[in-house]
Amino acid sequence: MKAAVVRDNCDGYVDIKEVTLRELKYGEALIKMEYCGLCHTDLHVAAGDFGKVPGRIIGHEGVGKVIQLADGADNLAIGDRVSIAWFYRGCGHCEYCTTGRETLCRNVENSGFTVDGAMAEECIVPASYAVKVPAGLDPIEATSLTCAGVTVYKGLKTGHVQPGQWVEIVGAGGLGNLAVQYAHHVFGAHVAAVDIDDEKLVATKILGADLTINSKKEDASKILQDKVGGVHSALITAVNSESFTTAVNALRPDGTLVAIALPKGDMGLNISKTVLDGIKVAGSLVGTRQDLAEAFQFGAEHNVKPIVKTRSLSEINDIIDEMKNNQIIGRMVIDFTH
Ligand SMILES: [Zn+2]
Ligand SMILES: [Zn+2]
Repeated sequence: MKAAVVRDNCDGYVDIKEVTLRELKYGEALIKMEYCGLCHTDLHVAAGDFGKVPGRIIGHEGVGKVIQLADGADNLAIGDRVSIAWFYRGCGHCEYCTTGRETLCRNVENSGFTVDGAMAEECIVPASYAVKVPAGLDPIEATSLTCAGVTVYKGLKTGHVQPGQWVEIVGAGGLGNLAVQYAHHVFGAHVAAVDIDDEKLVATKILGADLTINSKKEDASKILQDKVGGVHSALITAVNSESFTTAVNALRPDGTLVAIALPKGDMGLNISKTVLDGIKVAGSLVGTRQDLAEAFQFGAEHNVKPIVKTRSLSEINDIIDEMKNNQIIGRMVIDFTH
């Protein structure tokens, strides 16, 4: 079967190779891939940024159907549509795995990095870690919910967002766009979208943002304090550390800043604001199997729509160049059905 594998020199591109997968082990399922999104994380893996893994099959935004089950893979049936996410498997027995915080497991395995991933015609998954894709969800759009969707959904959960509250979404790119939709449609919150690009802000308005602020032209925190008394939570999806520092000032007392973007460097935190206003700061990383099942289900029920476009596997290195050159809006998804 064909697969996209990291090159021997880890130059940031992949080779399309003929690969034979090993036999299934106890509890595993073989998935015939239908679609797999290409993520910036895959580009980091291909470049060896997290450690060099030549020969590794990339891909962690995969959706496909079960075609073979080993003994012990009782939770799935042949023909089930399932996802392959970055969180491939936890150890299953540490304090994080046993208390609903499995993505923090210290012995976690990641699809398309520590184990072979989903950018291939077939992929092996531990059946109990393969989250089913509900019938009402478009499988192409589901690939983006597997990564960006669950990341922002979990971030909003981490911010304990309640109906009617104000949420500031900083950054209106791929993550921010989905965050606006989940915050508005699923959590029933008021949304303030903040970015430096007016075009992206207009898009968030259509998706449900009540307020949009261009932070290049205006002081977003001051506007939010003046207009709504500060936000209950701020979700930072923008990849620059300054956004983290300034967003703290948009929070109302007892507000929570949730960090999901990963810029290099440090964030500043005003100590008196933090102490006197009881500010909380939390990091949030992808999501558990349960978070993903919820992100799928609520996304399907409330019409959460990622921007996706299908391409063929042979174009993958062109797509990598397009991503590096910032030429892409939304997510390019490799179509394995043709
Ligand atoms: Zn991803
Ligand atoms: Zn564990």
